[in-house]
Parts: sequence; structure tokens; C-alpha cells
Amino acid sequence: MASEDRMILCLACNAVNRVPEGKVLTAAKCGRCSQMLATPHPVDITNDQMRALEQKDTGAFVVDLWAPWCGPCRSMAPHYAAAAESLQGDVRFYKINTDQHPDAAIRLNIRGVPTLIAWKAGRELAKQAGAPGGAALERWARGLFGLSPTVN
Ligand SMILES: [Zn+2]
Repeated sequence: MASEDRMILCLACNAVNRVPEGKVLTAAKCGRCSQMLATPHPVDITNDQMRALEQKDTGAFVVDLWAPWCGPCRSMAPHYAAAAESLQGDVRFYKINTDQHPDAAIRLNIRGVPTLIAWKAGRELAKQAGAPGGAALERWARGLFGLSPTVN
């Protein structure tokens, strides 16, 4: 298959940026506002931002729907952050606090927290209820997005 550019949404200004396949996402800046298009850390987003990502973005990303009172959510957080750092060149990791954004939990048909949703090319690839333990989270993401199973 020929390499394909990714259309990456800038969460700062809502511009959609074309990023060549193979370019490290955390090295890409928005052409309109110059903000970085990705970070090596999980980023909190809103229901509206999630909807914009679903509709306009063709890159790979994972969203963690969580709540502050949820023990398994808090236990998973460091593993989620580690995966975000390890996969920063290819995959963005977002978080939605379902206490602050219950509209997102309803719209995305979430039955409990934590729930992980993986998106690529404008499609939901997988919805994972519950927290994968330890390195299983990164393996799950690498498998879904077709990335090398070896840790960088
Ligand atoms: Zn921008």
C-alpha cells in the first residue's frame, strides 16, 4: 500500500494539517497557529474536541474515558502516560473526564470507566472496557495500529 498522509486536527485552532506518513507527530507544528500537533503526554479533551477528531482527523489516537473517583482509572494512568511517551511519534493519547463531560460518555455509549477507544482513519478500531494492566496497554495499542511490537 502506498504511504498516505495523515490529516491531523490542531486542538488549539481547529485547523486540519496534512502530515506525511512517517513524520514524527510530536515534531509537527500547526500551519496556522504554530502549536505542536502532538505531545508525548496524555492531553485532556472535551466532547466537542472528540467529535471534531472523529470527523476531521485521519491519524491514530486513543482516548481514555475516566473519572476521578475510579480506582482502576488512577492505577492505569501511569501506564497510559508511559504508552503516550513510547508511541509519541505515531499515536496521540487523549483523556476525557466523564464527570466533567458526561455528554461524551453518553454519545460514545460508554458503560463504565475506564474505557479506551482507539481511532484511526476516521473510524473506531476498538473499544476496550476496563484497564489493561502494565505493559499490556502499550501492546494493545501497538497491535491495533500495526506498530512494531518492540519497545523503542
Ligand atoms: Zn493550530
